[in-house]
Amino acid sequence: MCGIVGYVGRSEAAPILLDGLRRLEYRGYDSAGVAIVDGDRVETRKCAGRIAELAKLMTARPPTGTYGISHTRWATHGKATDQNAHPHFDASGKLALVHNGVIENYQALKDELIQEGDNSFTSETDTEVLAHLVGKLYDASSGNGTSPVQTPKARLVNALRTALQQVIGTYGIALVHQDIPDFIVGARRGSPLVLGVGKEENFLASDVSAIVAYTRDAVYLNDFDVVAVERDKFEISSVAGEGSNYEVSKVEFTDEDIKKGDYPHYMLKEIFEQAGSVRDAMRGRLSPEECTAKLGGLNMTTAELRDVCRVVLTGCGTALHAGMIGEYILEQLAGIPTEIEYASEFRHRNTPMTRDTVVFAISQSGETADTLGAMRESKRKGYRSLGICNNVASTIARESDGGVYMHAGPEIGVAATKSFTSQVVILNLIGLLLGRMRHLSTSEGTQIIAALQSLPEQIEEVLNLSDQIKAIAKKYASASGMLFFGRQFNFPVALEGALKMKEITYLFAEGHPSAELKHGIIALVRPDLPSVFIAPDDAVFSKNVNNIEQVKARKGPVIAITSGEGAGRLAKLAEDIITVPKVPDFVSPILTVVPLQLLAYHLAVELGRDVDKPRNLAKSVTVE
Ligand code: GLU
Repeated sequence: MCGIVGYVGRSEAAPILLDGLRRLEYRGYDSAGVAIVDGDRVETRKCAGRIAELAKLMTARPPTGTYGISHTRWATHGKATDQNAHPHFDASGKLALVHNGVIENYQALKDELIQEGDNSFTSETDTEVLAHLVGKLYDASSGNGTSPVQTPKARLVNALRTALQQVIGTYGIALVHQDIPDFIVGARRGSPLVLGVGKEENFLASDVSAIVAYTRDAVYLNDFDVVAVERDKFEISSVAGEGSNYEVSKVEFTDEDIKKGDYPHYMLKEIFEQAGSVRDAMRGRLSPEECTAKLGGLNMTTAELRDVCRVVLTGCGTALHAGMIGEYILEQLAGIPTEIEYASEFRHRNTPMTRDTVVFAISQSGETADTLGAMRESKRKGYRSLGICNNVASTIARESDGGVYMHAGPEIGVAATKSFTSQVVILNLIGLLLGRMRHLSTSEGTQIIAALQSLPEQIEEVLNLSDQIKAIAKKYASASGMLFFGRQFNFPVALEGALKMKEITYLFAEGHPSAELKHGIIALVRPDLPSVFIAPDDAVFSKNVNNIEQVKARKGPVIAITSGEGAGRLAKLAEDIITVPKVPDFVSPILTVVPLQLLAYHLAVELGRDVDKPRNLAKSVTVE
């Protein structure tokens, strides 16, 4: 959510910081700002609104200097105004700080500062309180004649540590002080922060994509790390003042991978990447000889895998929907009782768990606060907790006992697309692996592998329908909303289709199991409200047809996603029919979701929505 970029080096900081912020734009934000130290003055520019507005301010009055910090804000405390935008200053006006996250006890800290005579607060944010606290502690450490005098750098790091020891909440932080040249300090707890290591220049960023154009060497900071960064060195310690273990790793992708290319939007690019991303999700993980999947990253022995007697899948939003499909997959392929839980609910309730339960936390970013919280809770209770993540070295990936990476490449569009299909592929791999240790025969295993291997080509076929889907989207551009229905493996796809529609068109959209129609939803059916039925030619096709008939009888327009013989049977019932290849039910969602992604996309474009940065949404949801 929102972002931080910091720079210290020999180049002008302004263009690097602005470029970094632009690359983080996809994360969602409502204000932006920079602070750059020029000689002995901190120059700050900030405003509510888009980075383009900030860029205008910076062009009108260019801040110069070779080190600084910058921020995009996703308001939690105080409205999205110029005044509340970061950076925030301490009482002396010399220390500038940016922050992602929430200081939960900000009011108590603020009251204390006010009581001590600090009346110089200028914003409503929790962040400003932290800036004042660090500034106060720094100023107080200038030497009272008794204790040995520390260097200003050490004093600043210590002041930050002492302040953070008093903070309850989450933070990714970067700060500069105008009296300390070529020096930035960062810290994290809960909100991600990465150190980019360059040649005579170093970077801080909440996401490597902000800095991968400059360096691919990165240190993914841990919670409670404090990092002091200079041009040619850095030092990582903990909030408690101890040393901290770290390693410098190579970023998996390059700057090219995060460019839009010829696509008008990242979302469309990512929809079209799915043949490749699905292939990458299974690359090297299928064993045709043993008719199974190989997932070494789970860090589990064969005996441990065989002993799994219950699986809990947990996630939020799109990942939750993938997990819902995972429940069908694992129960069908492996016969293991499986449950899907909203991460936000799971972590706060006492789900009864049996001894050999494994928990999978599913999150594209690997930073989703609710999912991370759920995983920590299951770890705390002693259950094996595994991750299904895209971002290598993300917090969930690092804190889990093992897991499976999606290898989908960076997903920049806020509306998740390729990560969903990759998650469903991975859940199939897990189902195959666990199933083959139980009742699945070699021939069944071989069939599953064949079904998985056919997917990339079949996705290409579905992508070829983009123009047909665009025409359908245009036809329904004035619809007041949309309903989505599906059964079995395709019920979660209905939820996902509705979520995509809500996220980027802002139309009211809901997904339901088809059979629920008659239990209430049918009251909504009317001629200006289309119903999308995900009704492939499968075991429940005729049940879906019954529901389609019920909608037709009430003059509701129907868009059907079907396969095989379905188109023929629906010809008289549905206004529009989108036919995808016929495949076994456990992989069906990977194909049926693609037309729904395209439908939402084309409709959003038709309505003039900001597809890649939909209102109010953020990509990596690091608040609870
Ligand atoms: N809580 C802070 C604010 O509202 C930071 C929000 C953010 O993460 O951008 O200003």
